[in-house]
Amino acid sequence: MKVAVFSAKAYDEQYLSQAGDDLELSFIESRLSQQTVSLSRGFDAVCVFVNDQLDAEVLTALHANGVRHVALRCAGFNNVDLDCAKKLGLGVSRVPAYSPEAVAEHTLALVLTLNRKLHKACNRIKEGNFSLEGLLGFNLHGKTVGIIGTGRIGLATAKLFSGFGCHILCHDPYPSDEIAALQGKYVPLDNLFEQADIISLHCPLTPDTKHMINSQSLAKMKEGVMLINTSRGALIDTQAVIQALKSRKIGFLGLDVYEMEGDLFFEDLSDQIIQDDVFQRLCTFPNVLITGHQGFFTHEALVQIAQTTVNNLRL
Ligand code: NAD
Repeated sequence: MKVAVFSAKAYDEQYLSQAGDDLELSFIESRLSQQTVSLSRGFDAVCVFVNDQLDAEVLTALHANGVRHVALRCAGFNNVDLDCAKKLGLGVSRVPAYSPEAVAEHTLALVLTLNRKLHKACNRIKEGNFSLEGLLGFNLHGKTVGIIGTGRIGLATAKLFSGFGCHILCHDPYPSDEIAALQGKYVPLDNLFEQADIISLHCPLTPDTKHMINSQSLAKMKEGVMLINTSRGALIDTQAVIQALKSRKIGFLGLDVYEMEGDLFFEDLSDQIIQDDVFQRLCTFPNVLITGHQGFFTHEALVQIAQTTVNNLRL
């Protein structure tokens, strides 16, 4: 089995090679797109990540090149035209369950860093400034947390918040029995928006959930709400969120994902100035913390991702 691994980073090479030493793996740094699909010629399968483009044109070209399987090494599959893959007879696999704790813990890391202003405090202390001015936080204990999407990651996140003594409100079309054990309850989305001090997004990106955080939903939220998105960038209308930061409706914003991240985080831009004005605008707010889609990035998660991906390729 010859596999072209697109968007390959050094860690992909390390973990996939260890898990799949019986496969012939070729690692390609470029993102899979119409421009790079020709590199798949001669391979039986491609292995792709969240920002590889698998629209009808790319899938048709993959099929024409002899590729028979697309193995996603991630959970979300919003970047794949599944109907087209089915019509072409291309197999598509993903990694539905890998260390949900990795993303849940990253969610809590964003919350605690923002709340206790650890990023500011760290920079300040390096300058020899031990002042507490502007570092006042609040206890998580007793706060109401709204979890949107209580699948694997949402549930793991709810458990962590519950451990901090938070009240848990949830919204999901398919409720989980485990939320009751946390004294959590399911409520309509509007009630969650109205009552939560912290809102954390854990649902997939679909046509229904795209821009679910928009000017109308933001208007329903508490003044100074903390909004966290470790799911998919386009769940949030970023322009509306910038307005809400300006008006101080949003008190804290933590993002691990960003609407246009395919153009930013997956290219090496370290020697360039990022041209995206919206992203630049977001970065100017001191109460915004952004990480570059690293929620999944723990040793334990990478071992599981590599193992499941390789098993999917062997099927
Ligand atoms: P999952 O499928 O286990 O759970 C998703 C839940 O969302 C399901 O219970 C589903 O019923 C619910 N849902 C669907 N539509 C909804 C809606 N309109 N409102 C509320 N809930 C809705 O998925 P998961 O493994 O928990 O992953 C959640 C998301 O996290 C993924 O879709 C992916 O986009 C993202 N993710 C991010 C990272 C990262 O590194 N930041 C890593 C893995 C996954």
